[in-house]
Amino acid sequence: MSEKSKDKLPRLLRGMKDILPQDQSQWDHLRQKVKAFATSYGFSRIDTPVLEQTSLFVRSVGKGTDIVEKEMFSFVDQGNEQVTLRPEATASIARAFIEHGFVNQPKPVKLFWMGPLFRHDRPQAGRQRQFWQFDFESLGEAHPVVDAELILVAYTIVRELGLEPVVQINSIGDAQDRERYKKALVEYFRPRRNQLSDEIKKRLQRNPLRVLDAKEEEVRILVQDAPQIVDFLSEEANKHFVKVLEHLDELDIPYVLNPRLVRGLDYYNRTVFEIWPTGDDTGQLALGGGGRYDGLVESLGGQPTPAAGFAIGIERLLMKMREANVPIPQPETPRIFIAQLGEASRKKCLKLFEDLRRAGVSAVHSLAKDGIKQQMEIANRIKVKYTMILGQKEMIDGTVLLRDMDNGIQETISFEKVIPEVQKRLERSVLKANRTNVPYA
Ligand code: AMP
Repeated sequence: MSEKSKDKLPRLLRGMKDILPQDQSQWDHLRQKVKAFATSYGFSRIDTPVLEQTSLFVRSVGKGTDIVEKEMFSFVDQGNEQVTLRPEATASIARAFIEHGFVNQPKPVKLFWMGPLFRHDRPQAGRQRQFWQFDFESLGEAHPVVDAELILVAYTIVRELGLEPVVQINSIGDAQDRERYKKALVEYFRPRRNQLSDEIKKRLQRNPLRVLDAKEEEVRILVQDAPQIVDFLSEEANKHFVKVLEHLDELDIPYVLNPRLVRGLDYYNRTVFEIWPTGDDTGQLALGGGGRYDGLVESLGGQPTPAAGFAIGIERLLMKMREANVPIPQPETPRIFIAQLGEASRKKCLKLFEDLRRAGVSAVHSLAKDGIKQQMEIANRIKVKYTMILGQKEMIDGTVLLRDMDNGIQETISFEKVIPEVQKRLERSVLKANRTNVPYA
């Protein structure tokens, strides 16, 4: 094939990743744990479609945000509908809440969601264009105890997965508070405009709060002396924030009051928080974040429904778990290999393979191979405990040769008895392994 035509071969899209077989046990481990957390905290699972109407995200996340301005995978479908691959989950959950009449259920309605999201971000370590999140949302109650419960859940999940998280927290007040604050912020930057890049000037005009979480060092320095939103909170919003913090104190959850934390999306109000890994003091690789979004459901056409939630990124979590050497279960290796010699044996072995599976023993084989030596090499490579050999002699005798791969000892077992014998032996070796794993037994 010429170099030129090779260039045209289909490739993985930039910023997308395959999740390979060897990584699946880590993913499964994490997903299982998160599901168990959801159940134990009383959150019910909801799945939403990958594709939604574009207007859902424009209305909720907001026009001036990075997500809507630059990052959505949007297209017009065959039915001439403007659609978008979901860039976040909360908007879809709010839409589903309205469309399925969740409003009539006892409050709060506690929902758990897990799935892939799509953002046309600049790919880098910990930043992909397709990534996974799990979300916990609590809809229907305005009380600060809801915010505290969600922070407890987010913090505990990350901690019990073996990491040392730090909760960063702020209040961005209600809409009126933010309007007053935005004015003060624009006033503060006016005499300092010549120190700002065009990008930051644009942000200041469109979405001034976003200047607070700018990554540029010169802006960060200016932000240090900028007015802080906590000084602009109404009495109600302030009381709410204090109550959330009191709950966190009672729960002994360590937190950092971070006046620069605003979270980019339009739907947030009052409490906003992020979960940062220890040692990250910029939040560039935050594990997750969330906050209150009291106006979202109503803005999408539902009844007024105060709500709050958070999302945590799975790839980031796995990345940090690997970096911190958190033990993650390895895939179970198969324990039985079936080796055959000759056409008749091959037929019998495929049947044996299926009979073993039905008996609850998952075996491996290389039935397409001919040479016994080659097959034994494979069995050695995958480190099975036993190999069942069905050669020409065994076919005539109606037996199977069972080879213990640890010590090379081979036994002849009659074909009829081989499945229960193998089951017995495997059980025994599991018991032995368990015994040796108990430190003081
Ligand atoms: P956000 O919805 O932007 O608040 O993100 C919540 C969490 O999702 C982040 O803290 C990350 O763990 C994860 N996340 C967000 N964007 C990406 C991305 N582009 N690639 C990988 N993970 C991401």
